[in-house]
Amino acid sequence: KYHNELVELRGNIRVFCRVRPTIKEDGISSSSQIVVTFDPYDDGLLFIANKSRSQVFEMDKVFNENSSQTEVFEEVRSIVTSCVDGYNVCIFAYGQTGSGKTYTMEGPVSDPGINQRALIELFNETRERGTDWEYTISVSVLEIYNENIRDLLNRNDDGSKLEIKMKSDGGGLYVPGLSTIQVTSLNQVNQVFMTGQKNRATATTNLNEHSSRSHALLCIEVTGLNRTTNTRTKGKLNLVDLAGSERVSRSGADGPRLKEAQNINKSLSCLGDVIHSLRSKQNHVPYRNSKLTYLLQDSLGGDSKTLMIVQASPAAQNVSETICTLNFAQRVR
Ligand code: ADP
Ligand code: MG
Repeated sequence: KYHNELVELRGNIRVFCRVRPTIKEDGISSSSQIVVTFDPYDDGLLFIANKSRSQVFEMDKVFNENSSQTEVFEEVRSIVTSCVDGYNVCIFAYGQTGSGKTYTMEGPVSDPGINQRALIELFNETRERGTDWEYTISVSVLEIYNENIRDLLNRNDDGSKLEIKMKSDGGGLYVPGLSTIQVTSLNQVNQVFMTGQKNRATATTNLNEHSSRSHALLCIEVTGLNRTTNTRTKGKLNLVDLAGSERVSRSGADGPRLKEAQNINKSLSCLGDVIHSLRSKQNHVPYRNSKLTYLLQDSLGGDSKTLMIVQASPAAQNVSETICTLNFAQRVR
């Protein structure tokens, strides 16, 4: 009962924050260069010490520098498995470049993040649901760069652009021509991830730079058929490693770089607008203002579930971007 009341009160949008540990690139030599602190008694709070004043931010859950991939996934597990029950789900990693988005979603091979853990969980969950149900899990891997959708499982170089279309029966949105691959084992999943990464790397001179300027999406569809009752379910899980949220100074950027930056700004702020208007129950939700929100339209709002994981660096040199990130979190929460 308590849980239902909470859902009623808070809706289907959750905001988590994960603060990564310091890394040598931070060049931190004294603890005074760390500006993020935590409340030992309340894992929903974090504090930023900024110019001799302290700001407090409230989240649904805060992960500190010691939180493991396993701990993060424990908090994400139930939202992941809800797509077996037919829910549509989006999990986003938001934050400036270097804040740990890819670590949280993809993770190192030795300690994988949400993407791989989610698929393992879905394999287990669908196996456990009994013999009456027959489930199919299929995946697409794509990126959105400069408001263009790129299929990362099929590198067709014919220059044809992928577009989002409305199904003729009105039953949602789809991308004609986008590859979907049915997966049945972890081995196969890893194969698919590798293909995706290889295709993302080709046609880019600097993969790191490129991936910080594009949104990476892993879209998982789980369909179920009950052999006895002939009931069907369909749920989607969208796992999104967003482009870096850092502000690019207008003066420093050249033509194409400036256009990239504007496209990123536009799509991230549009994502914020969409979630904010869903939270505040506004009638008009501006899905169409960016490719990302348009593509995810049927997984944002309605009875869909959204989890925003905002990522932050603990370092003083990143404090202004960290505050921007946390303000974004407060706006959508
Ligand atoms: P982003 O994708 O936001 O640009 P990354 O995920 O690439 O950031 O993280 C930046 C650096 O910090 C990487 O070297 C990554 O391994 C490291 N890092 C991020 N989060 C963690 C973490 N929770 N634990 C250990 N190292 C981390
Ligand atoms: Mg990254």
